[in-house]
Amino acid sequence: AAQQEKHGFQTEVKQLLQLMIHSLYSNKEIFLRELVSNAADAADKLRFRALENAALYEGDGELNVKLSVDADAGTITIADNGIGMNREEVIANLGTIAKSGTKDFFSKLSGDAAKDSQLIGQFGVGFYSAFIVADKVTVRSRAAGADASEGVEWISDGEGEFTVAEINKPTRGTEITLHIREDEKEFVDAWRLRSIIGKYSDHISIPVLMWRDEIPEQDGEDGEKIPAVPGEWESVNKATALWTRDKSDISDEEYKEFYKHISHDFADPLSWAHNKVEGKSEYTSLLYIPGKAPFDMWNREQSHGLKLYVQRVFIMDDAEQFMPTYLRFVKGLLDSNDLPLNVSREILQDNKVTQTLRQGCTKRVLQMLEKMAKNDSEKYQSFWSEFGNVLKEGPAEDFSNKDKIAGLLRFSSTHDESDAQSVSLEDYISRMKEGQDKIYFVTADSLQAAKTSPHLEIFRKKGIEVLLMGERIDEWLMSHLTEYNEKQFQSIAKGDLDLGDLDDEETKKAQEDAEKEVEGVLERAKTALGEKVIDVKFTHRLTESPAVITADENGMTTQMMKLMQAAGQ
Ligand code: ADP
Ligand code: MG
Repeated sequence: AAQQEKHGFQTEVKQLLQLMIHSLYSNKEIFLRELVSNAADAADKLRFRALENAALYEGDGELNVKLSVDADAGTITIADNGIGMNREEVIANLGTIAKSGTKDFFSKLSGDAAKDSQLIGQFGVGFYSAFIVADKVTVRSRAAGADASEGVEWISDGEGEFTVAEINKPTRGTEITLHIREDEKEFVDAWRLRSIIGKYSDHISIPVLMWRDEIPEQDGEDGEKIPAVPGEWESVNKATALWTRDKSDISDEEYKEFYKHISHDFADPLSWAHNKVEGKSEYTSLLYIPGKAPFDMWNREQSHGLKLYVQRVFIMDDAEQFMPTYLRFVKGLLDSNDLPLNVSREILQDNKVTQTLRQGCTKRVLQMLEKMAKNDSEKYQSFWSEFGNVLKEGPAEDFSNKDKIAGLLRFSSTHDESDAQSVSLEDYISRMKEGQDKIYFVTADSLQAAKTSPHLEIFRKKGIEVLLMGERIDEWLMSHLTEYNEKQFQSIAKGDLDLGDLDDEETKKAQEDAEKEVEGVLERAKTALGEKVIDVKFTHRLTESPAVITADENGMTTQMMKLMQAAGQ
């Protein structure tokens, strides 16, 4: 027999395996979805590589997955003729977790099975989910284009180690055999597997084949013989790329499962939009808003972007060029008829077609969000709490869609005691006082600080609503938003605050009198503070606090100064 070499799993893999077995007991059947999903990915990768080198097909261009059951041995085998793996790839892919956000994920685990299974859901389980139902897994793989003698066999019982050995494997691709656990034998059943495929993997674009036995010769009604039908590999899924099908023929369940396949997410998406565009440019987009933010959304190096297909051929994952950064949470795919099949990241970089596609996809996402905000505010609120702070980067990044994005923003406000970021600019404008022509807001280090800002006193007294902003990103946002629906934004912490028509004659008179009374105090304060201040002025803004420090109208707000200081400027 071949020489077996022992390897230990990366610590994280061991932890993940433990967790899966203990937390995913109510959702065991997903192992099949994950393995079929990998086989479909492997087919996509082979097709892409074969664009340049058709010899990789080795005379077998009909890519598929074969699923078979051996009742006597108690095993299930999932075999594909996709790209396959060489020795190094097997060791790296099936012995470690290379995903970004892995550290975050493990630091968030609580030990509570229900909570942790939710988290694993978000993280994605992939290949290792095989061990939910199997106590031993054998993977036999051979990379496309490699010699039959360069096959690899990987075996593990999912405890802490795996072995790797060289084997002879004439057929290209990967074959995974699951030795099903004693108490999971229900899965060693062709019908059961067929129904799981129907439930989770119908949308997979390559055929999932299962062996149908010969149907013996039968007696027909009028004594004639019906000839025997020989056994054959039979497709048990629709096997057409989901996005090429008609919207009206696709169920919500199918859309959701397809999302899980392309996003490697495990939880349902919040919403999706499927569009075919014809005419000057021709493409199909299928865009999803995830239900939960990934663990590494704030990691700038995190991979994001769409899956790119050209004329139904998979080209690349994470094509960032089609989504602006402030929509980096969007998952989905784009299938273009206008890009060349040999398109590379470099070619995409500055390309007219890319621009058009990006504009189109951006518009779709913003429309989808607008619709959600209008029709299902609860859902929108849950979107906002996951991704709102990312969307706030929008006005600075995407000038042409500034107004649309502004319409999607939600804020805390003095109108709403709940602290929730739920007030839209439309809401605000609809509640503006007679004579009010500005949208007032205050930024601070935290919502609490914004709420207790002394600048608010006069607004509280007059019953004028003020938007409260306590997130880091808010200052940046507000330096790029100047107006909405012809209403100017006004920081209540900046410059001379002229409440204009909101001040009545009587108050104005009283204020002038008061101002005369304290003239001497202002002079003394100015002399005492000297160069430290630009000016000391009388204000009508305060009703309780004796004094307040404000920024110059044209200068930075104190909050911005703090940000700059924190950034080391
Ligand atoms: P993911 O699919 O999210 O990358 P998985 O745990 O499902 O994570 O798979 C890990 C990696 O193992 C894949 O990215 C791929 O490189 C490799 N792999 C898994 N199954 C196959 C397969 N059937 N053929 C080729 N490579 C595979
Ligand atoms: Mg996978």
